[in-house]
Amino acid sequence: MKKHDIIIVGAGVGGSTAAYFMAKSGLNVLMVEKDQFPRDKPCGDGQVQSIHPLLKSMGVYDKIEKYGYKCPGTMISDMDENSCVFNYPEGDFAFCTPRYIFDDIINKAALKQGVDYIDNFEVIEVIMERGKAKGIRGIQNGKFVELESNIVVLANGAHSMLSRQMGFYEEDPEYVFYGLRGYFENVRGMQDVIEFHYPDEMFIPSGYIWIFPMSKTKANVGVFITEKSLQGTGMTSEELLWWWRDNKKIGKERLGEAVPIGNLKGWRLPSGNKQKVYGNGVIAVGDAGNMIESLYGGGLPHAMIAGVCAAKACAESIAANDYSEEFLKRYSDYVDKELGTGYKSSEMIRNMIFSSTKDIKDLVEFTNKNLKGVRCSGGDGMGRFLVQERGYKGPTKGVYNK
Ligand SMILES: Cc1cc2nc3c(=O)[nH]c(=O)nc-3n(C[C@H](O)[C@H](O)[C@H](O)COP(=O)(O)OP(=O)(O)OC[C@H]3O[C@@H](n4cnc5c(N)ncnc54)[C@H](O)[C@@H]3O)c2cc1C
Repeated sequence: MKKHDIIIVGAGVGGSTAAYFMAKSGLNVLMVEKDQFPRDKPCGDGQVQSIHPLLKSMGVYDKIEKYGYKCPGTMISDMDENSCVFNYPEGDFAFCTPRYIFDDIINKAALKQGVDYIDNFEVIEVIMERGKAKGIRGIQNGKFVELESNIVVLANGAHSMLSRQMGFYEEDPEYVFYGLRGYFENVRGMQDVIEFHYPDEMFIPSGYIWIFPMSKTKANVGVFITEKSLQGTGMTSEELLWWWRDNKKIGKERLGEAVPIGNLKGWRLPSGNKQKVYGNGVIAVGDAGNMIESLYGGGLPHAMIAGVCAAKACAESIAANDYSEEFLKRYSDYVDKELGTGYKSSEMIRNMIFSSTKDIKDLVEFTNKNLKGVRCSGGDGMGRFLVQERGYKGPTKGVYNK
């Protein structure tokens, strides 16, 4: 096969978004994928409002709107099972779309742009020559295959061995989360809002049970918890879900009569965004670059936006004929410019509210007292709580839009 300017490893949302914008700008790009689309991806299936403009710019918004269930608010419950709801501004909502469908739509959009594509191709190694990435080695139809490129984009998700090879991997147990999700029918008491339940000290910091509705009675339900907290519980993430169902009022209501559809699936979520994600001839996008935020574990918008940044940085790198680490640092700068404020806000809210059950309780109380009938996003509401109730004086951009 001819040499490509860029090889993207992994055709998930991050890889396919990068491929879409690279092909659109006329770059010579190959994307390889170990699976075959449509394929499943364990996820809460929640797609927040911030990603809607990008979906529109890729011409896929209408298709996703067809399949996504709209939730115009966020519910939070505290350890005593008191709850509050943030009703989003008029016309705002989060989508809940199964990743089996969502990722396939993004993947097809990339292929329509004319990306060269090979599926059923598992990359096992980045080929290095004198400290620079030269391409990839993979397995296709049981045979070893080597492919060459000027830049390798690692977009192969949270379990990436290739990120490990490059030293990009996040290992901090306070910033590596475990996520477990299942689909359930006959879920009771849902109100068309995405739900985050903080039922016990053992989930702290920022661990929760989620309920993301897919219809009036069907939901994606899951557990999100740091590796460190999970170790402290002495339970598996699946046991934590059953503990919630059997011991908590809301848990009993939602899941008491619910029927699981298929198996529960668990996954690793590397957050923190602290590692370097560029090297000589190589960059990492999305979960392969630990781009999940550390409050809710959201990572889909981050992977897609990083894909846009990767396309921009790679186009400049190809134009300059410079694939060095120094040149590709700009990729990290672009990611920081697009996502840095959001990461900082998540981290600040994690530390100031979701590291203590008392603060979560106070947030719920404040919201019920002060924000009933007020339309605002969850982040906006939490910003108001920090400023008005806790006297927070730091930067509020991206958190509290006064
Ligand atoms: C349980 C759970 C719940 C979550 N809930 C949410 C949520 O509600 N909202 C949200 O925004 N985010 C959520 N996330 C995070 C979100 O799923 C990820 O951040 C997002 O999928 C990252 O996209 P990606 O393209 O980087 O990786 P992925 O979506 O994992 O895609 C990687 C692709 O690479 C392929 N691949 C892997 N290895 C190789 C290889 N060696 N060779 C070739 N191809 C390979 C895979 O088959 C896959 O198609 C959740 C995550 C988990 C685990």
